[in-house]
This record gives sequence, structure tokens and C-alpha cells, in this order.
Amino acid sequence: MDLVEETPYRFRIDRRDPMRVPGVVFATRSLLPDVDADRSLDQVADVATLPGIVTASYAMPDVHWGYGFPIGGVAATDVADGGVVSPGGVGFDISCGVRLLAADLDRAALGPRLDALLDGLGEATPRGMGTGAVWHLADRAELDAVLRGGSRYAVERGFGVPRDLARCEDGGAVDDADPAQVSERAVQRGAGQVGSLGSGNHFLEVQAVAEVYDEPVAAAFGLAAGQVCVMIHCGSRGLGHQICTDHVRAMERVMPGYGIQVPDRQLACAPVSSPEGRAYLGAMAAAANYARANRQLLAHAARQVFRRVTGGELALVYDISHNLAKIETHDVAGAPRRLCVHRKGATRALPPGHDDLPDDLRPVGQPVLIPGSMGTGSYVLTGVTGAPAWASTCHGAGRTQSRKQATKAVRGHDPRQELEAQGIAVRGASRRGLAEEMPAAYKDVTAVVAAAEGAGLCRRVARLVPLGVVKG
Ligand code: 5GP
Ligand code: MN
Ligand code: MN
Repeated sequence: MDLVEETPYRFRIDRRDPMRVPGVVFATRSLLPDVDADRSLDQVADVATLPGIVTASYAMPDVHWGYGFPIGGVAATDVADGGVVSPGGVGFDISCGVRLLAADLDRAALGPRLDALLDGLGEATPRGMGTGAVWHLADRAELDAVLRGGSRYAVERGFGVPRDLARCEDGGAVDDADPAQVSERAVQRGAGQVGSLGSGNHFLEVQAVAEVYDEPVAAAFGLAAGQVCVMIHCGSRGLGHQICTDHVRAMERVMPGYGIQVPDRQLACAPVSSPEGRAYLGAMAAAANYARANRQLLAHAARQVFRRVTGGELALVYDISHNLAKIETHDVAGAPRRLCVHRKGATRALPPGHDDLPDDLRPVGQPVLIPGSMGTGSYVLTGVTGAPAWASTCHGAGRTQSRKQATKAVRGHDPRQELEAQGIAVRGASRRGLAEEMPAAYKDVTAVVAAAEGAGLCRRVARLVPLGVVKG
């Protein structure tokens, strides 16, 4: 893979057949993936072959290998010009994302109650591979209400306050969900899981604001130095996974009829405006609403525990997905175009002044939530004006080790004890689950965020440190 260094934060993969556009990798030299161990830069080039792709196939500084598209990949296709949608460009955990809540107390005031808080959160947060959830849905009709209404439905039913919706991407739900495109199997897998974390990489973490880089913006977000926060990372569980599987299969069947050839069958896709493209987008939107309701319910459960243990409240800072495709209008070569923007392991980062922001955030830009690792820290960023890559940035630190490698690396160590020795309390998670998620399995989130800022994708607002984690 030949990379041309355009700036210290931007590398180009020149277009060569059958690529339609170049690849652009935002990273520093030291963050670039190791080409012997990780094929993600080849995947950036493969994505550049998709019909209708415009400008470039982008990679964020946390890029690593994924199904078809790399994780940390961003690609936009022109809807009116044969542009395709690809389920692999969203990923199996549709609308996986992060929600950050800010407490009305600081770290010192929480003090010794942290242990009781974590015990309570550990008990109140359903987690692991199987079922068991905050919400027991009455019937399929109620699941459809979740698929259509997302967080809005959860709030209507008393699992939150109206202000939460203003602080959710899309006001808590998108309108174009089509539950009819969600298979019976997906429904079966998802019905018992609304309000549950899931496995491994998903978590609920109690954090404190360690550093503020921009006080006015942090204040607009509701954050200040020393403040206690709760970060929730989860997605659409078995429902989203099954939707991805179903629609990849459906697209594989019809691609030849549309004359589409892809270099990797994991890039299965169909024109956005085709019946198969629309069916996927309708099902994907349903999964996105499910994921938002999921995070809304977990936040509700966390609030109850927080109130009981501390007497305090948790206010929503923001809720944002990092696995989603959206139809958005962007300027391409000086003209506004309707684009299908795929962000897979990448976060939308709207700049100040954007119409889609709620009034109180419009002057400062969208909060961008970047988990790092349970042992190091996480960041809150904001969007910037004139950013490349369709208002997108990184979504985390990004893996450097596969789950298997990470498990091997901790042989002879006790991950739980190592974290607790650093003052980070752990609830839930098997030894294996913790091993897969140790900080050493991830890139340095501080370096990733610095590269994203250096590349002009976003700006730092605050750094958060972990106090305790409930692992999926
Ligand atoms: P993904 O959605 O790709 O599974 O994960 C997003 C990011 O979350 C990862 O790249 C990693 O940096 C971060 N992460 C994984 N586990 C934890 C955790 O327990 N705590 C925090 N703060 N971040 C984590
Ligand atoms: Mn996920
Ligand atoms: Mn995720």
C-alpha cells in the first residue's frame, strides 16, 4: 500500500483502477495501522470502488480492520447518481453509540459512595450475551413502537424527561424506520434485549472530568472540571446484527442485476434508491431507533441508582451513534448534493451554526463522545467549521490487538487487579471479557484525538478519567 504524506495528519492513497476516488487517511505516521497485521488500508481502497462514491474514501485515526469497510471508515455516495448503500459500511451493531450524562456533584463530593454507586449500577444494568433487560415489552406492537419511536417512545412511557430528546441525535428517533423490513428472526433476537448493554466492548462507566480545554463550550455542554459523569456505550444488540446479516444476503443476490461488482463480497451493496437499498435503510433506521431506546432505558436505570445512592441527578450531555448511514446534504465541488454518508466506527461532528443542532448547542457545535479505554480515559470533542470528511471524526481509540491477541497478552496477569490497583473499580465481566478489553488492546486515545484535531476534523473540549466501570 503506497501512502502519500500530504500533511503530518493526512495521507493519500492514489486512485488506481478500479478505485473511483482516492483514499484519504487522517492519522499520524505512528498511528497508521501495521500493514502486516491489519488490512484496513486495503479496505479503504476497496471502499473507493463503490458506485457513486464522491470525493474520497476516508479513514479516521482510529482505523482498524472491519467487515468489508474498515472500522473508522467514512464514505459518501451520491443518491441521484447511482450511489449505493452498503450494510458493511454501517456494521453489525447498527447505531452502536455513546451517551454521556453529567452529574450535579463532583468527584470529591461523591467520595466513598463510589463503591455503593458501582454496586447499584452493576445490579441495575443487564449485560452479557443473552437476554435480560430493563424493559419487558408487552408484544410485537410495542416492539414496533420502539422501532418507530426510539428514545421518544421511551420518554413518552416515563423512562426519561423531554429535555433528553433535545440532547439526542435526531431528537431521539428518525422518522423513516420501516419495521416491515425487520425479519421475524431479528425481532426474536431483539425483543428481550431492550435496555441491556451486551458484551465485551460495551460498558457503563462512572467518570470524572479531569481537564477542560474550552470552558465556554464545556459549560454549554453542561460539563465542568471535577464533575462526575456516566458514559454508556451500547448498540442494537441481536436485532441490529440480524438486520445486517439479512440485508447483506439480500443485496448479494441482486448486485449482479444492477451490474455492480465489488472487490470483496463483504462490500455487498445496492443503489440507495433501489427497493433493496430502501428496504435496508428502513430496517437500519428501525435498529437505530432501537439502539437509542436501549441507551435511554439504561440511562433511566442509572439515574434511579444515582438518585438513591447520592441524592443527585444526571443530565444528558448528548447521545450519538458511531455506526450509521444517513442521507445528508453536503457541498460537493461547490454544489449541494444529497449523499448517503456511511460512518462506521466514526462519529458525526456537526460544526457550530448547524441547523440540526438544538438551540442551546447551535453556537458551540455538537458534542462528540470518544471512549478511550477503561484504564486510561475518554474525550469530549466538538465539530469544527470547514472540516473534511462530511462532518465526521473518530469514534474511540481503536484496536491494535484482536480479541484473541489481547487475551494472550494478559496470560499470567490479573486484569481486574491491575485496574483496581490504578484506582478503577470493576463490576461485571469475566476474566476473558476484561482481558479482551485491556487498555493495551487499544491505541492511545490521546494520540488519536490529537491527530483528529490536527487533521481539522474536530476540537477537544474535555478529558474524562474512569472511576469505575460496569463491563458488558
Ligand atoms: P467499538 O464501538 O469500536 O467497539 O468501541 C469504541 C471504542 O470504545 C473503542 O475503540 C475503545 O477505544 C473504547 N472502549 C472500549 N472499552 C472501553 C471501556 O471499558 N471504557 C472506555 N472508556 N472506553 C472503552
Ligand atoms: Mn457496539
Ligand atoms: Mn461502538
